[in-house]
Amino acid sequence: MKCSRYLIRDVRVILGPSGLSGGRCDIEIVGERIADVRPFGADTPADTTVIEGKGLIACPGFIDLHVHGGMGADFMDATEESFRTIGAYHAAGGTTSYFPTTATESPQAIFSCIDQAARCREQGIGGVEILGVHAEGPYMAPRKHGCHDPGFVREPSREENRGYLDRAHILRRITCAPEVPGVLAFIRDASREGIAVSGGHSDATFVQTLQAIECGMSMITHLYSAMSTITKDGPFRVAGMLEAALLDDRLATEVIADLRHAPKELLLLALKTKAKDTVCFTTDAMRGAGMADGVYTFGSQRGTKAVVEGGVARNLDNTGFASSTVRMIDLVRNGIEALGLNLESSVRRASLVPARIADADRRKGTLEAGKDADIVLLAEHPRLEVRLTMARGKMIAQALV
Ligand SMILES: [Zn+2]
Repeated sequence: MKCSRYLIRDVRVILGPSGLSGGRCDIEIVGERIADVRPFGADTPADTTVIEGKGLIACPGFIDLHVHGGMGADFMDATEESFRTIGAYHAAGGTTSYFPTTATESPQAIFSCIDQAARCREQGIGGVEILGVHAEGPYMAPRKHGCHDPGFVREPSREENRGYLDRAHILRRITCAPEVPGVLAFIRDASREGIAVSGGHSDATFVQTLQAIECGMSMITHLYSAMSTITKDGPFRVAGMLEAALLDDRLATEVIADLRHAPKELLLLALKTKAKDTVCFTTDAMRGAGMADGVYTFGSQRGTKAVVEGGVARNLDNTGFASSTVRMIDLVRNGIEALGLNLESSVRRASLVPARIADADRRKGTLEAGKDADIVLLAEHPRLEVRLTMARGKMIAQALV
């Protein structure tokens, strides 16, 4: 089969080759890869479809490390249809690759979601590339379950651990609480299989978090949400997972930069404290994203209920947020408008930084020859909006005018 060739003409490239970044460029795409990024105006090679960029911004595709669903679907539905629906919805928000994320439910429900993700990855269903599955739980702290069903929070068992380890080809990340009995040993086994272990939904002390790092834990799940912080033991203050995450740069972290889960000052604190390229944006979006206000389940249709009002998802008892309703483009916009980042550094936290954290930066995260053709075209005015999304050389969302 002949491979497709595109030329995206006259775009302002963000995170492109050094010297060309920020300048007017043409991007040549052959098959799944970027063949060349060069100054605007060169000849069009034969057999090439031209996309007129007309001065739009071209940036690397967004990478969402933690997403549950959107448009009425949740990955835990474990159907091809749900993967297709969620992919199309997030592609229109600039996502070109992601980690479908499971909810804390029965082992069978979690395994069937993971297995469906493997099939969908194989067949390219949903357009957005599945980098791997992220299992959120079930080994979490009973008091820090958030919107996950507390009835399914549990300790590791040999049999269930085996189920995860045997799926390491597709399960690439798991969130757990290191202080739960049996979890440290599981962290060792999972890391050995190449599964990134992420601390979260946890009551771990500072010291317990450091022990988990020694066992292989390398990430933190939605910094600030559902995690221990400073407590008092008589007159003494004891630091928690949050402080360990801020202080120790062996831990990379995601933040849900929807300005609800954490206010702007806490997001800025994380960006200021942590080493360069260790903090990325994630959506943690749920079924109600893109939908009218109403009641939606979090996780499968048997999952817990959450109410979405004015685009904000909360638990029914209003004790916390139940994931979010944003897409990656919303977070890039928040980075600029609320956090004061410039365009390149906000885009970087949605593309190159998550690529590095997910160990996918050899082929993703910048617009350079040889990398995957994961490209988002953005209009800057009147506000930042996605006009075209291309994943590995295939158009997966388009709103060019
Ligand atoms: Zn989540």
